[in-house]
Amino acid sequence: MPELPEVEHIRRGLDRFLPGRCIEGVNIPWPGILATHTPSDFAAAVRGLAFGPVARRGKYLIICLPPHTLTIHLRMTGRLYAADEPDPGWEDHPHTRAVFQLDGGARLYMRDLRKFGRIYLSSSASSLVDRLGPEPLSDTFTLERFAEMLSSHHRQIKPLLLDQHTVAGLGNIYTDESLWKAGLHPLRRADSLTAEEVAALYTALRAILAEAVTHGGTTLRDYRGVDDVAGSHQRALAVYGRAGHACPRCCTPVVRIVVGQRGTHICPTCQREHEPREDDCG
Ligand SMILES: [Zn+2]
Repeated sequence: MPELPEVEHIRRGLDRFLPGRCIEGVNIPWPGILATHTPSDFAAAVRGLAFGPVARRGKYLIICLPPHTLTIHLRMTGRLYAADEPDPGWEDHPHTRAVFQLDGGARLYMRDLRKFGRIYLSSSASSLVDRLGPEPLSDTFTLERFAEMLSSHHRQIKPLLLDQHTVAGLGNIYTDESLWKAGLHPLRRADSLTAEEVAALYTALRAILAEAVTHGGTTLRDYRGVDDVAGSHQRALAVYGRAGHACPRCCTPVVRIVVGQRGTHICPTCQREHEPREDDCG
């Protein structure tokens, strides 16, 4: 599932491609992709409109299409592909759910194997994104704000981080990687973290997300940028999807556990659920 770095990489690609391009028509092979309109109403509403800039909030892509806003959530397996001319491999692909026909023969395709992705057309994206938590890479997401948020929750740290109302844009990959980097067990209670642990987690989250953005995201299966090119951050993963491989820090084999019904990867040496007592060492 695309998380913040993947959606941000897609946003950057769309923002280079879409602004100024005009919609000449749309083809919706699977109407369920449209959350707000029937295919005919959608086509009538967007035909002739020109795209503006592309923004992101959490995992939502927010595309300016005056006088409307086109919002897209890719969910599990959604993919977008921007092409300068029609691409037969996408035009007729059985998983292609939406095709935007743009001026000059350009195309924007949305493919989605699992059909959980959605396209929303509305006056603004606020009803979808207003209740999301802070953007972890923004200047307003400060250590003080993060510490205050964690201290007010008794939930286990991993499910809390996955909750989009806590921090926007995190999913399984970057939560596991950040907890490993900070040396924290995913079952620790948020309000049990020391100031040093909160600071380590804050630094780890921001560093890993920023690094993954520069790598164009993590491609394990479906994810690609809008140029149909895979990301490269999978080569930098320390624990996610690496059960049985050596922890890069201490060489203990990584193990997979289940936390809140989500597969979770940890180093059992670097990430202790309980702090070792003094007599454990003797
Ligand atoms: Zn380790």
